[in-house]
Amino acid sequence: MSLIVQKFGGTSVADPEKIRAAARRAIRAQKQGHRVVMVVSAMGKQTDELLRLASAVSDKPPAREMDMLLSTGEQTSVALVAMAIDDLGAKAVSLTGGQFGMKTDSSYSKARIRSIDTGRIEKHLDEGHIVVAAGFQGIDDDLNITTLGRGGSDTTAVALAAVLGADACEINTDVDGVYTTDPRLLPEARRVDVISYDEMLELASLGAGVMHSRSIEFAKKFGVPIHVRSSFSDRDGTMIVAQPESESSPVSGAALTKDEARITVLGVPDVPGISQTVFSAIAEKKVAVDMVVQNIGAEGKADVSFTVPGDELELTLSALDSIMEKIGATGLTHDADVSKVSVVGLGMASQKSVAARMFRALGNAGVNIHMITTSEIKISALVPRDHAANALRAVHEAFALHERPADAKTWASIQADSSREADVDDVVERLQNDALEALTLTDISIVEGQARVTLDGVPDQIGVAADVFEEIGRAGIFVDMIIQGYDGVDGSTSVSFTIDDNDLDAGLKVAKSICEAHSMRDVRGAAGITKLSVSGIGLRSHTQVGTVLFEQLADAKINVEMIATSELQVNVVIDSTRGDDAKKCLQAAFADSLR
Ligand code: ADP
Ligand code: ASP
Ligand code: MG
Repeated sequence: MSLIVQKFGGTSVADPEKIRAAARRAIRAQKQGHRVVMVVSAMGKQTDELLRLASAVSDKPPAREMDMLLSTGEQTSVALVAMAIDDLGAKAVSLTGGQFGMKTDSSYSKARIRSIDTGRIEKHLDEGHIVVAAGFQGIDDDLNITTLGRGGSDTTAVALAAVLGADACEINTDVDGVYTTDPRLLPEARRVDVISYDEMLELASLGAGVMHSRSIEFAKKFGVPIHVRSSFSDRDGTMIVAQPESESSPVSGAALTKDEARITVLGVPDVPGISQTVFSAIAEKKVAVDMVVQNIGAEGKADVSFTVPGDELELTLSALDSIMEKIGATGLTHDADVSKVSVVGLGMASQKSVAARMFRALGNAGVNIHMITTSEIKISALVPRDHAANALRAVHEAFALHERPADAKTWASIQADSSREADVDDVVERLQNDALEALTLTDISIVEGQARVTLDGVPDQIGVAADVFEEIGRAGIFVDMIIQGYDGVDGSTSVSFTIDDNDLDAGLKVAKSICEAHSMRDVRGAAGITKLSVSGIGLRSHTQVGTVLFEQLADAKINVEMIATSELQVNVVIDSTRGDDAKKCLQAAFADSLR
């Protein structure tokens, strides 16, 4: 008998009528012959309401009590859903996270799933019940109630689908699928039939709120196909599977993180180990750092800039406070009025001038770019917040995301072969391990024969990045990593990019002409550099990856020239002579997580 997990988000159980509608959908699935596990969120805006109540009684509610409070939202809704099912004449049982054996670690408000005991759920299913499981919550070893983080019911649903070996995992929500960008922000966004795990993971962590990003880590790791669909209609929605919608499109989606904050640590000595101290202090607070740009300024001093979620700015600043003296930094600046606009696509890894297209679109829309970072399947630009909506519209249009690609796969073709994609034995083995959300690394590798070009004194003005990368593109040079950030001299930025060693002369020639045309300060090039990549699943949310990586490289006295992070890879650029040493020491340090 097939098993189906049906998750219902907050808006889908917002009032009694919607609760009864969700109940009917589950009963219908059961009548069609499925065993049904529902995963339910708190009703409507209940979680926000509870947060508001907490802040009304305390300026700093203890984390444990916060999770105790927030979990009540889901406890209310599962009971109501089970009552509705009973009233409609079917059998149901509601279970809290603790009751269905959802064991987590003890990091309140961001708990990670350790294990799920399926025995109790299976017993109820065997008895013919619809199991109504509370999303978002679990218990730690001391029976404290924990929560998984905002939006965490998606992760509960996909995790349950994985451990129960479900045939389908439906995410019933208030949109009828995944769109090329948030349809609430951009009406011209297009619903896609299919999107790949990697793209969805990246988009979710870059602001596409339709799925909790950790749920996609789970889905990818355990090969669970996800069907995102509307609670309010019977239409097919979007399948999230291993394959992308189109093999030819460079970009498949765009996302906006509206409330981002930029921090720059000024004048730190440029010696191995400094980045490590900075980022491990932040990682300790479990803050996920993004868009790291480090510039090597004059007199052996460096400035390190990076972004963090806006609501974690204060926490991050307090973490830095304690180490400023230790690292010998001369100052710290931050900007809380910035947003990050990103484009994501598996296809960009093999196509030229994708970044230039994005930068030109932003330039034409009158949007200035403060910072740029790229990785194999995403490009992010930090822009002034009051230009965020404009920026999103401009990049969506530049990549014609509103148009269906000619080679787009359809829901039907994917559905035909979207059964469990992972190797079954492998999944069973991993499910027995007691750390379901543990870090999983797939590879540690180096790419040699790279070169770096750096432009200093790049005016922080509209359209400059587009000019630079269009020129490079016209010279037929393939650019891999791009970073742009504050360059240590007020009002200017530096742009660095990596290219093939063989293209260095040509790249420098183009860079020099751009430097002159725009009155930039300087052009520098370096041959003989290596890109070191650690690949895996969900690397940004596992903040320890960066920490361990920097720690290891610092201990081995290997200097990091450039950094690029994504959900799929952490890349650093180092000197070629140290490539093999770096790879060996990381392989040893991550031996437990590599598979
Ligand atoms: P639920 O309560 O069901 O979990 P959420 O509010 O968490 O629902 O997620 C659904 C919302 O996600 C949609 O209403 C939509 O505004 C937003 N969203 C953001 N990005 C996207 C996207 N790329 N595609 C679809 N919806 C998106
Ligand atoms: N109720 C929780 C929230 O609002 C979890 C969820 O809905 O997924 O974040
Ligand atoms: Mg949600």
